Amino acid sequence: MSKLTSWFRGLLLLELLAGMWLTLKYLFRPKYTLMYPMEKTPQSPRFRGLHALRRYPNGEERCIACKLCEAVCPALAITIDSEQRADGTRRTTRYDIDLFKCIFCGFCEESCPVDSIVETHVLEYHFENRGENIVNKQQLLAIGDRLETEIAERRAADAAFR
Ligand code: SF4
Ligand code: SF4
Repeated sequence: MSKLTSWFRGLLLLELLAGMWLTLKYLFRPKYTLMYPMEKTPQSPRFRGLHALRRYPNGEERCIACKLCEAVCPALAITIDSEQRADGTRRTTRYDIDLFKCIFCGFCEESCPVDSIVETHVLEYHFENRGENIVNKQQLLAIGDRLETEIAERRAADAAFR
């Protein structure tokens, strides 16, 4: 848009009028209250909720302890320790996520080369005791095991955009 057109649009308050028209349109429509938690709004396959660690179909954990997710996390919410196994592969001995620090940016998921750490659609969870905000490897794997079908479906639905 040229500067002149932009100046005229500003002078005529077109954006303001368009906004007021939208408000007016919705003013007389019947109101609807979502009956949460019985009713829920649609959720994108990209929704970033509670984290999970995934396994391969043979049961082997995907994570190779490359620590990319730990390095990329802007909130320093991930802590990983690792060791080499007898077969020469490397795996984590500790994988903690502090959910109080996490800002659910999805960088860990984006950075993972083996689709191990993911963010699920789960948004309803709570803590009752001090320290429960730190989710450890076993808990993350358990979440992954429980939700693998949904995780795979959502990733397949979004695959074209990754
Ligand atoms: S979602 Fe973002 S803030 Fe949370 S653990 Fe992953 S990288 Fe860190
Ligand atoms: S979850 Fe992915 S990015 Fe993080 S250490 Fe494991 S393999 Fe690397």
